[in-house]
Amino acid sequence: MSKVHLVKRLPKDPGPPAWRSIIPDQPRYPKLENQIITDWLVIGAGFAGLSASRRLCQITNDEKITLIEASEVAAGPAGRNSGFMIDLPHELGTGTYKDTIERDKLHIKLNRYAIDFAQDSAKEYSMPDEAAELSGRINGVVNDNGEKHNLEFARHLDNLGEKYQHLTSGDMKDITGSTFYKGGLFLPGCLMIQPALYISKLAAGIFLKFKNRFKIYEHSPAIKLEKNGDSWIVTTPQGSIITKKIIMGVNGHVESFGFFEKRLMHVFTYASMTKKLTTKQQKILGGKPSWGIIPSNPMGSTLRRITGISGDRILIRNRWTFNPSIEVPDSNVEKFGKDQDLSFRKRFPMLNDVEMEYRWGGRLCLSLNSVPAFGEVEKNLYSACCQNGIGAAKGTLAGIGAAELASNIQSVIVKDMQSYEQPKKLPPKPISIIGANAIISWREMMAKDEL
Ligand SMILES: Cc1cc2nc3c(=O)[nH]c(=O)nc-3n(C[C@H](O)[C@H](O)[C@H](O)COP(=O)(O)OP(=O)(O)OC[C@H]3O[C@@H](n4cnc5c(N)ncnc54)[C@H](O)[C@@H]3O)c2cc1C
Repeated sequence: MSKVHLVKRLPKDPGPPAWRSIIPDQPRYPKLENQIITDWLVIGAGFAGLSASRRLCQITNDEKITLIEASEVAAGPAGRNSGFMIDLPHELGTGTYKDTIERDKLHIKLNRYAIDFAQDSAKEYSMPDEAAELSGRINGVVNDNGEKHNLEFARHLDNLGEKYQHLTSGDMKDITGSTFYKGGLFLPGCLMIQPALYISKLAAGIFLKFKNRFKIYEHSPAIKLEKNGDSWIVTTPQGSIITKKIIMGVNGHVESFGFFEKRLMHVFTYASMTKKLTTKQQKILGGKPSWGIIPSNPMGSTLRRITGISGDRILIRNRWTFNPSIEVPDSNVEKFGKDQDLSFRKRFPMLNDVEMEYRWGGRLCLSLNSVPAFGEVEKNLYSACCQNGIGAAKGTLAGIGAAELASNIQSVIVKDMQSYEQPKKLPPKPISIIGANAIISWREMMAKDEL
């Protein structure tokens, strides 16, 4: 027996998985309660884990693939995000757009590869349209800073040869029904997903298509990894798995497995979703039935209006906390919910009788130098983690890349993922906590008009 990795912490998701609560008919998967033997073990059913699973099913013939999830499919961050699968450079870690043109072009190409992968999955597994639609996003403008930011971004897009459209305050009112926005930049290449619908259908689609060799277990967290000769033995609370290769798609929790310690920043952000708007409320609001707005300053509020099987609703996401313990008290959800109510009322004073039905939070993982935690971290143990806040696209790529790397396929994704340095070491704890909280407070203050 060689090294043993005891998993120090298991994920805790604050508040309900709202996007999942508003969709019908989701399959549930069993808990692992015995010992099984598999060729591949994927840990974590988010964008990374599910994309890795699908890619492994595609590139292997008769090998067995097992996916274990600590919680339930679509209940974690992959099913709780705002659903922008972004194609263009969008550095949450630095807030700048200074990458070289060539680097940006490569990132756009790779992000679009992830978007194609998601659209191909949507088609192959007959997902409803609203699971994944190429309907674009808007960078909203509320003040001169936002205007300046969008103009700079548009200039950068000109250099990249990318399409966009400037929107006036009138256009913004026609789209959202609100007079809050002074303008916007429409970016057509963003895939808008209903995150829980997409993740749930992706899991079910792979499960049905590869039923004879792909298995999913929920409520089955990995609590121990142990190398035994050429195999790994992974323990869950009531079972164990003997496997040749492991892909970890657990994002920031890779640190709980003992990897990339003191190199990852764990942050949470929070959201609220309204009850279904009544026909009368929809009429009073006007605007289009679905749209998505990202703030020019990432610390501002993200908004979406959705329509379809879950009714017409508005979602609002804002506020950030830095949480090295990868946990937050449930009270944060209520506390920041008040900010979401204020942001909602500022934008939609005509909807003063609309109430929030769900409030929740979720975790993200960033590195100081905005690089992934990717690669073979021990023999036959691969990490597809740290998506730097844009995990819908980057998590999909990391999952595909890890499956290809572990299968000895030297793809463009693998080459790119392996081209980065390691996530940079964080300063010692008191300094990193004080520093991160100060940066969040300062940047939230700078973004206060956009909250
Ligand atoms: C409110 C909110 C809004 C966001 N909006 C966007 C957005 O619009 N666009 C975007 O790109 N990103 C967004 N994000 C970030 C995005 O959700 C994450 O980057 C993404 O989910 C990361 O994908 P992943 O597959 O790497 O990890 P995750 O989605 O975190 O999945 C990892 C899975 O691993 C499981 N796990 C952890 N430990 C274990 C264990 N020991 N055993 C088994 N399973 C384990 C977890 O339960 C989890 O399901 C948002 C996040 C939040 C919280």
